[in-house]
Amino acid sequence: MNEEIYDVTIIGGGPAGLFAAFYSGMREMKTKIIEYLPYLGGKVPYFYPEKVIRDIGGIAHATGEEVTEQLVKQAMTFDPAVVLGEQVVDMQRMEDGNFQLVSSNGNTHYSKTIMLATGFGTLHSVKLDHPEAVYYEEKSLHYTVRKLADYYDKHVLISGGGNSAVDWALELENIAKSVTLIHRRDQFKGLESSVTKLKNARVNVMTPYEIKELHGTDGQIKKVTLKHLDNAAGDKELYIDRVVVNHGFQINLEPITSWGLEMIDGMIAVDSSMQTSVEGVFAIGDIAHYPNKLGLIAGAFNEGPIAVNHAKKIVAPEDPVNHLFSTNFAAFTEEE
Ligand SMILES: Cc1cc2nc3c(=O)[nH]c(=O)nc-3n(C[C@H](O)[C@H](O)[C@H](O)COP(=O)(O)OP(=O)(O)OC[C@H]3O[C@@H](n4cnc5c(N)ncnc54)[C@H](O)[C@@H]3O)c2cc1C
Repeated sequence: MNEEIYDVTIIGGGPAGLFAAFYSGMREMKTKIIEYLPYLGGKVPYFYPEKVIRDIGGIAHATGEEVTEQLVKQAMTFDPAVVLGEQVVDMQRMEDGNFQLVSSNGNTHYSKTIMLATGFGTLHSVKLDHPEAVYYEEKSLHYTVRKLADYYDKHVLISGGGNSAVDWALELENIAKSVTLIHRRDQFKGLESSVTKLKNARVNVMTPYEIKELHGTDGQIKKVTLKHLDNAAGDKELYIDRVVVNHGFQINLEPITSWGLEMIDGMIAVDSSMQTSVEGVFAIGDIAHYPNKLGLIAGAFNEGPIAVNHAKKIVAPEDPVNHLFSTNFAAFTEEE
């Protein structure tokens, strides 16, 4: 059994956990990341490796994969321990004040402080509620777009009214032969600039419609029947090769909900130092709840360093909490 005690153990290797690992290394804390998936990056490589991310300061244009690659490289700067493919299922404070974490495979980990960067735990897309959907899933019916190349020259139908549906419609507009976007309501919930772009895009927007039937053979969709919701226009049939369903996510935060932490609206409540209701346990990224929280990658990049600085105060109480720069002025000074 590995009983080595780390200063900071980060549960979750998504953007929040990765940047916190880098910053923790900068503060010279012995750091470990434990990630459930067999790779690092969290939701970004899982849900949108090829989507272009445009809302991180200083990065005008980068795919999910490119952002992940840079994040992982940066996180490894100070050689944190990385454990992949382990779900942490239990957290207990021991008599000596340190924490013991237990993974689903029985492995134990020990740490002075804990950083929960778990996103919304295990996350699954809401499936299309049709019995025949299962025949097409992962063949011609998808819940996210992992490879843009799969959509080249295809007739694509996207179902959904949120950010993801609007973003994928715009992303596929110049790749697919045709893109049809259907939604049960007339309004889309994407960012204003994206919804405006959609109005001028080569996307066939149809509302209020939903998928009524899928038709095809051997996993390949050939035709989709759409139902008009107030029956004003009756059913419509479209020749379609690929269907993307963006009907939201089902969140499963268990087992974290049983760890005695104060929760608000399914998220973990934190104070202004990102500390949870349990001293020494911090929460950052999507899982953290505080007033006016922004569930974006850029937000997580601020929360990690705040939590790390306060964790350092627990690990080394004699050190002040400072906002430290990574800039090295040495070369500049030598030239002078
Ligand atoms: C389709 C889509 C598009 C998006 N587009 C953008 C965008 O353009 N710009 C933007 O800023 N944001 C975007 N977001 C939001 C962004 O992805 C999240 O804000 C970000 O991923 C949050 O990072 P995180 O590290 O908090 O959580 P996550 O990325 O969810 O990572 C959490 C990690 O923790 C792991 N984990 C969970 N529980 C455990 C456990 N018990 N043990 C071990 N590991 C565990 C999970 O496996 C996961 O890898 C998008 C989200 C989606 C779904």
